[in-house]
Amino acid sequence: MEVKMDPEFEKQLAALGGADAKLCFQCGTCTAGCPSGRRTSYRVRKLVRMAQLDMKEEIINSEDLWMCSTCYTCVERCPRRVPIVDVIVALRNMAVAEGHMYAAHKKTAANFYKTGHTVPINDDVKKTRAKLGLPKVPPTCLANEKAYADLKAVLDAARFEAIAKE
Ligand code: SF4
Ligand code: SF4
Repeated sequence: MEVKMDPEFEKQLAALGGADAKLCFQCGTCTAGCPSGRRTSYRVRKLVRMAQLDMKEEIINSEDLWMCSTCYTCVERCPRRVPIVDVIVALRNMAVAEGHMYAAHKKTAANFYKTGHTVPINDDVKKTRAKLGLPKVPPTCLANEKAYADLKAVLDAARFEAIAKE
């Protein structure tokens, strides 16, 4: 496989808050403790290395970029104090700006745009709430039209709908 290195990538990553990826010395502690890596082929150490090597195209086209659950275990354990989640968020922002987003994340973003919730309140949840004596929906955007309108105005200003389109 031909590997393309993008000379502008380091600057772009730094501008988005991911400059400290370069502090990584590849010890693998992050990968060893990563819960997502236990269930998938995702290896966070490899992703950080690819960032160090300016492998922009490989990163933004990779499903691995979307496997991190942002649990912060790696950040707590990294001996070099690499802000790994900040690096991943920077890489994801870069990917989204160029039209790449993992399908499951798109679905979550679409839910958020449509309802103000990333996880929909479905009938099962409503039934459980009723059993617990809670109102059908929580006191969030779902129960407050003005709050949802305010949220939507912010999301529209950020052109979020186009990003979230499934
Ligand atoms: S734990 Fe930190 S230094 Fe070690 S590989 Fe992961 S990011 Fe790099
Ligand atoms: S924050 Fe992401 S990369 Fe780090 S341990 Fe958690 S799932 Fe893995």
